[in-house]
Amino acid sequence: MTCPICAKAAAPKYRPFCSRRCADVDLGKWLTGGYAIPSEDPQDLEELAEKLEEEAQKPH
Ligand SMILES: [Zn+2]
Repeated sequence: MTCPICAKAAAPKYRPFCSRRCADVDLGKWLTGGYAIPSEDPQDLEELAEKLEEEAQKPH
């Protein structure tokens, strides 16, 4: 099984993803109704995941 986000090998703990980061990216896509990822560049995915983490840490 490979990660649907970055196509690396999935980790049992985060399956079907390879990491919590990729799981967050996928969750973000669902929450935003199809978040447009700028590209498939891993750097962009990391930036997106960091933005999602920042959003999650914001107080209401
Ligand atoms: Zn991944």
